[in-house]
Amino acid sequence: MNSRRGFLQKLVVSAAGIPFLSWDDSSQIINFPEKKYEGPVLKVAIMGLGGYGTMVAEAMKTSTRAKLVGVISGTPSKIKNWQAKYNIPEKNCYNYENFDAIKNNPDIDAVYVITPNGLHKEQTIRVAKAGKHVICEKPMALNAAEAKEMVDACKKANVKLLVGYRMHFEPKTLEIIRQRKEGELGKILFFQGLSGFRIGDPTQWRLNKKLAGGGAMMDIGIYSVNGARYMIGEDPVWVTAQETKTDPVKFKEGVDETIQFQFGFPGGATASCLSTYNMNNLDRFFITGDKGFAELYPATGYGPIKGRTSNGELEYPHVTHQTVQMDEMAGIILEGKQPIVPVDGEEGWKDMKIIDAIYLAAKTGKRVDIKW
Ligand code: NDP
Repeated sequence: MNSRRGFLQKLVVSAAGIPFLSWDDSSQIINFPEKKYEGPVLKVAIMGLGGYGTMVAEAMKTSTRAKLVGVISGTPSKIKNWQAKYNIPEKNCYNYENFDAIKNNPDIDAVYVITPNGLHKEQTIRVAKAGKHVICEKPMALNAAEAKEMVDACKKANVKLLVGYRMHFEPKTLEIIRQRKEGELGKILFFQGLSGFRIGDPTQWRLNKKLAGGGAMMDIGIYSVNGARYMIGEDPVWVTAQETKTDPVKFKEGVDETIQFQFGFPGGATASCLSTYNMNNLDRFFITGDKGFAELYPATGYGPIKGRTSNGELEYPHVTHQTVQMDEMAGIILEGKQPIVPVDGEEGWKDMKIIDAIYLAAKTGKRVDIKW
């Protein structure tokens, strides 16, 4: 077992109870102090107490470096429940009208925005103006222009902006990235990403163009967009795309049901991906180079993630993605740690720029070049 692999296994086994680990230099991280963590803790308020917000809150219970201390919600009954469940004091509870007042609340370091996509831009900018760091869920915005505004606002306010890319901290994903970086897969030639599920309730915000920004591409296709980039290690320079729709009543104008898209990368590799709200069992990444291949299936669900390469199965134990993510993000925000795969606003903006290009390519039927 090489040292990196040993490092990741130790990380996984100890994820809930150990101090933050630097991801960028495994040679320095062979020994793990088993003592209780006594370093800085990121005090987080969650905005949007819905399905995913609840999952993050539960995962933060076992986070060492991040603690849930506040809530921002439009639903008073949820605030009451969360106060009781997570021991949140009244002074750390806000709604969407009054949350600018977090500016004067030293108990809150960062706000995790977990609301519908169409609200992310305005909410992120307000949090930044209140002087607090922002973690924003994916997709960070409705398009690249909005994403850029968010990046600029956070820079101007001198706060950090991170995007909730939990897979960037997932051990099997990171092991494949290590193998690719160290040349074990050889020259990378091709990536395939399949991202999709059959969506239910036609009245939900995910099928509302104004709140979602689109359809499957914004919600689940983004995993293949982002995955193609972190698996190959480059940003695409051209895009082609084809859209198909079987149910124009459920998937209205501007809400994509299924899009197949292709990327070309500067190093010569290509990618072929599928984004859909109309098929299940689609959560698979495959990458091949001239020396070997790697596969993740499932690749981006909540886990366990399963993976294999030309050298065999990847055997890391399951981690709770959001726990590891919050520990690592606390290190990034509080101590300037550098993750292996970026999770900052620029990273989110890149995905939005590519998604803009995918929509344009699908609409025009033409190849769209992307300039970086
Ligand atoms: P939900 O619908 O379950 O929750 C969204 C919450 O946002 C609501 O419960 C509500 O909370 C608040 N909200 C504020 N305004 C509105 C509005 N106009 N309509 C609906 N809700 C509103 O969505 P999810 O939690 O599934 O998704 C939220 C975000 O998280 C999305 O951007 C999504 O893409 C992302 N996500 C990321 C995942 C990941 O793995 N990284 C997984 C799932 C989602 P309240 O009542 O407290 O105001």
